[in-house]
Amino acid sequence: MAATEVSAKTQEAICSNVDQIQDEMISFLQDLVRVPTVNPPGDLYREGAELIGDQLKKFGYEINYITADGMKEHTQAHPRVNVFGRMKGTASRPSLHFNGHFDVVPVGYGWTRDPFAAAIEDGKIYGRGVSDQKAGIAASIFAIEAVKRAGLKLRGTVEQSGSVDEESGGFAGVAYLAKQGWLGKDKNDYVIITEPTDTNHIYLGHRGVYWFKVTTHGRIAHGSMPHLGVSAIDHLTDFLHGVTHELKPKLATRKTEVPVQPPKSRYASINVNAVFGGQPEEGTQTPCVADRSGAIFDRRFLSEESFDQVRGEISEMLEKYRSANPEFKYTLEDLMVVHPVQTDRSCDLVQTLSGCIQQVAGTEAVFAASPGTYDQKHVVRIANVAQCVAYGPGLLAQAHLPDEYCRIDDIVTSAKVMALTAVQLLGVE
Ligand SMILES: [Zn+2]
Repeated sequence: MAATEVSAKTQEAICSNVDQIQDEMISFLQDLVRVPTVNPPGDLYREGAELIGDQLKKFGYEINYITADGMKEHTQAHPRVNVFGRMKGTASRPSLHFNGHFDVVPVGYGWTRDPFAAAIEDGKIYGRGVSDQKAGIAASIFAIEAVKRAGLKLRGTVEQSGSVDEESGGFAGVAYLAKQGWLGKDKNDYVIITEPTDTNHIYLGHRGVYWFKVTTHGRIAHGSMPHLGVSAIDHLTDFLHGVTHELKPKLATRKTEVPVQPPKSRYASINVNAVFGGQPEEGTQTPCVADRSGAIFDRRFLSEESFDQVRGEISEMLEKYRSANPEFKYTLEDLMVVHPVQTDRSCDLVQTLSGCIQQVAGTEAVFAASPGTYDQKHVVRIANVAQCVAYGPGLLAQAHLPDEYCRIDDIVTSAKVMALTAVQLLGVE
């Protein structure tokens, strides 16, 4: 499907309607920031979902609330509530879906402002989650309304979802929506996730993640006679030494062709996330040789590396220690695997969106990929929608910081880009 030609006059009318709707958009965003949907633990998700749902309903969408029934994180105290709105065009396809997560990370230290007051100062709106990514939700909702107020009717279908738990993996959020069939290639042609991408970047995808746990096993003995036991901590030390001095230098030579930002994240990497073993740190110590130790690792891998290769490299290292020392006993456990995703930049969605960025912002779109993952993995891997990117207002560098803010200009610019993208992809009557 190629993008529809829309006259310059129509596009101007749409942009001027975005300007006119600005105050309403910002006041909606302020209301949304004032609901502290902090995750963990997942506070006020129902209130957050309803605020978005009520706005979508006013703008003519059919609304559904989707609770993540059956998921362990969906509890009475902290229900996982997602909101899904659909506005049918004169045709059901093509269909463009905007998704934004409305959970925000905890406030943390160092704020000089009330993190949930949504105060405006010098053209910036301040608050936890404003950049990441409530501004994106406001922008996509009001972008489509501006098209309507310009007197136009979209030919294809627009959907908007507000989802939960992105900050903790998105399993009760976008993954759940995809598994339950709310998102899928049989329904959706294009998905834009409205994460902060600095207004002119398009995030095509992200690196892969392999979280794993290595546990080493020894034999307990009295600490005054360690020769009678086998220290699991000594075994772990050997492996950690190998990770630091053999594996890390090897990974530092592997660079991806994918435009990951920041550029230093273009290399494969590993981080030791946690180390455990022996007796608990708190409490009385008794003299013992540790019979169990271990560590949790966070390995980020590139599109150019296969997961089998990544995992194989770890088990080969462990086997090397075992063959050198028959007492070296270990278990390797996979905790989480996320494969890298990357949307083809020649697809209609990316081409149209980048054209609209050029047109509205007056600068060329920058293609990027994320060092960490976000909900795109679920859209691509579970819902099987190939044309999915992240695009939205707000500075990625502002995400999770104290005094988080988003520039109002950027929200307006992004909303214009989203509106023009929608009319070009879906067509207008
Ligand atoms: Zn985010």
